[in-house]
Amino acid sequence: MSFALKTRPLLSAFCGLLAGLLTLPALAAGEVNIYSARKEDLIKPLLDDFAKQTDITVNLVTGKENELLQRLQSEGVNTPADLLLTSDAGRLAAARQAGVLQTVQSGVLEKNIPAAYRDPEGYWYGLSVRARPIIYARDRVKPAELSTYADLAAPRWKGRICVRSSDSIYNQSLVAGMIAHQGAAKTEAWAKGLVANFARSPKGGDRDQIKAIAAGECDLTLANTYYLGGMVTSSDKTEQEAAAQVAVFWPDANTTGVHVNVSGAGVTAHAKNRDHALKLLEFLASDQAQRWYADVNNEYPVNPSIPPSATLQAWGEFKADTLNVAKLGELNAEAVKLMDRAGWK
Ligand code: FE
Repeated sequence: MSFALKTRPLLSAFCGLLAGLLTLPALAAGEVNIYSARKEDLIKPLLDDFAKQTDITVNLVTGKENELLQRLQSEGVNTPADLLLTSDAGRLAAARQAGVLQTVQSGVLEKNIPAAYRDPEGYWYGLSVRARPIIYARDRVKPAELSTYADLAAPRWKGRICVRSSDSIYNQSLVAGMIAHQGAAKTEAWAKGLVANFARSPKGGDRDQIKAIAAGECDLTLANTYYLGGMVTSSDKTEQEAAAQVAVFWPDANTTGVHVNVSGAGVTAHAKNRDHALKLLEFLASDQAQRWYADVNNEYPVNPSIPPSATLQAWGEFKADTLNVAKLGELNAEAVKLMDRAGWK
C-alpha cells in the first residue's frame, strides 16, 4: 500500500510543501538559454564545464548570425534566449541597434576585458580577438615591400591582390576602422585604389584567398588569422601545403596598428535568466575559459594576461589597433556605402 493513499488532506498539503522544498535546490540552479552563431564545437565543452561547476542547465541553440538576430527580434518579449553569442563587433552593434540586448555591468568583465573590446555602455562584451593582417606569397613578396593597409592601393600592387567581397562583415569592419582613423574621403580614395589592384573579382571566403595565393592567382590578401591557423593545423594536406606558401605581415606597426575585431556576447533585452547569463559571460571571460575559448578557433584571448596559442605565437607579436571596436559597428552603414561607390563587389 502506498503512503499517499493513507494521507489526509492536511498531511498531503504538508507533503506537497516538503516535496516542493526538496526540489528547491534544482529550481535555484535553474537554466540559461543561449543563441549562438558560433559553431557548437567552438563552445560546447566550455558550456559543459560551466554547467558542471554551477549546476545551471545550459541550453544551446546554434544558427547563422542574421537568422538568430531576426529570431530574437520576432520573438520579442517571448524569447527564451538569455544570451546572444556572435562574432564581429559589426554584428554585436547591429544587435544592440535592433534593441535585442540589455546593459549589464560587472567588475569581473571590466577587469578581464580591455575597454576597447567591449561596448562602452555594457550591451556586449568581446570574448576573443581576431586580427586581419596582410597575408602574402613567400616566394613573390618580400616583407620589406609591405608597410600599411594604405599602401595596398599603390600602383605596384596592380593585379596582385585577392580579397573577399564587400558583403563580408570583416571587410566592412576593416573599412569602418579606416574611416574612424582617416576620414571617409581618404578611405574612399584608398578603396578605389585597392579595387584597381584586384587580381580577380572578389569571390570565396578568407581561406579561398589564401588558396588563390598558393595557386599563383594573386600575391597577397587581407584575411583573419584564424583561417590561416585552421589551415596550418588542418587534416587536409592541400590546405596545409597552401598555408606553408604564405606568411603573415602585421601592417601599420608605426601608425594605427593592425585591424582587430572580436567575437563576443550580450545579455538579451528580455532575458528570463539574466543573472545566470551574466554568470556565464563572466565564466567565458575567466582565465580558465579564455585560454581554451581563444585556442579552439586560433583566436587571441581578449584578456591580455593569457598568452596566445603556439600556432599564433609563431607569427610574432603585433601592435593592435586601440580603437574601440564598437566604432566599427557605428560606422558600418557608411563603410558599406563607401565600398559600393568604390566598386568593391
Ligand atoms: Fe570567420
